[in-house]
This record gives sequence, C-alpha cells and structure tokens, in this order.
Amino acid sequence: MKTLKDLFLAELADMYDAEHRILKALPKLAKAATCEKLKGAFLSHLEETKGQVTKLQSVFRAFGAGPKRQKCQATVGLLEEGDELAAENQGEITINAALICAAQKVEHYEIASYGCLHEWAGLLENKKAGVLLKHILDQEKAANESLLMLACISCNHEALGECGECNEGASGKRPASLRRGIRPVKLGRQRSSTLV
Ligand code: FE
Ligand code: FE
Ligand code: FE
Ligand code: ZN
Repeated sequence: MKTLKDLFLAELADMYDAEHRILKALPKLAKAATCEKLKGAFLSHLEETKGQVTKLQSVFRAFGAGPKRQKCQATVGLLEEGDELAAENQGEITINAALICAAQKVEHYEIASYGCLHEWAGLLENKKAGVLLKHILDQEKAANESLLMLACISCNHEALGECGECNEGASGKRPASLRRGIRPVKLGRQRSSTLV
C-alpha cells in the first residue's frame, strides 16, 4: 500500500530530475535571449537552480533517503517545446517574448510541484523539509514574477515592434523607445528627478 511519504519521495525524485534538466537548459535560454535584462534573469535563475539541487538533496536527507532522479516527462516536454520555439523565433523581434513564454511555463510547473511538496512536508510533519521547500517555492514564484515584469516592460513591446530597449545592450543603438519619444520603464528603479 502506498503512503503519502512514498508519494512525496516519488514527486521529490521527479523534481530532482527536473532541476537537473533546467540547469542544462538555462544557459541555452540565456544565449538565445537578445534582451540583456532577460539574459541576466536567466543567468541569475541558473545560480538559484544550482542551490535548489543542493536544497533538494537536503530534503531527501531530512526524510532519511538518498537523492534519486526519476525522469520528469513534463519538464522534458516543456524544454523541448521551448527549444522549438526558440529556433522558430531566432533572429526575429519575437525571440524574447517567445523565450519568456517558454520559461514561464517551466516556472508554473515548478510552482505547482513545490506547492504540493511543501504542503505534504507539512502533513508529514517534517519541519526541515518544509522550510527548504518553501524557500525553493518562493524562488520559483520570484523567477516567474521577474519574467512577467520583463515581458510587460519591454520584451512584449519589442515583439510588437514598439520597443527597441531589448536590443539596447546588444546593438549599442539608441533604443527605439527613446527615438520615438517613449520613455522606457526601468526595472526596480525610480528616477525621482523625472517626477516634476
Ligand atoms: Fe527550479
Ligand atoms: Fe514532473
Ligand atoms: Fe525555476
Ligand atoms: Zn527585453
């Protein structure tokens, strides 16, 4: 008979496999992005993901088990689709919007999975695992928010041909948003001098 702990460990092994695959995919996503901010977001989530692998090892230990990978078909599929989308949009103004969409699908999958794992750790009264899983869950939510923010402030506008901010760093050209007299929104910074 299966127990909740069996289910927990199976899902944990699935996510342990997923994170390894995501670890390999993030540098490719960063390379495919032409938006410097998006590149940066992928690379910083890569660093977080390395830490998540270590955290998951600690969660296994907290349950007296060794780390184990079980092929995550969903992540395989999501990343495959992301590869296709990146190839189809390479060299196009839609590339960054497409990469954000693919990456957000992965984050949503992770949020759902860690949400369940965190809940189950609580029911199984494993405090240590609960704290670790909550930390990972918060990182995935924050990663999703950052992607959403980048889509809204520039990458989706770029895909409409309305904003050149995404290629600012790459081409060194004056952003189209400025050429057209539209002020680009800066992420996480308030320029008080412009508030007259
Ligand atoms: Fe992750
Ligand atoms: Fe999975
Ligand atoms: Fe993630
Ligand atoms: Zn962008």
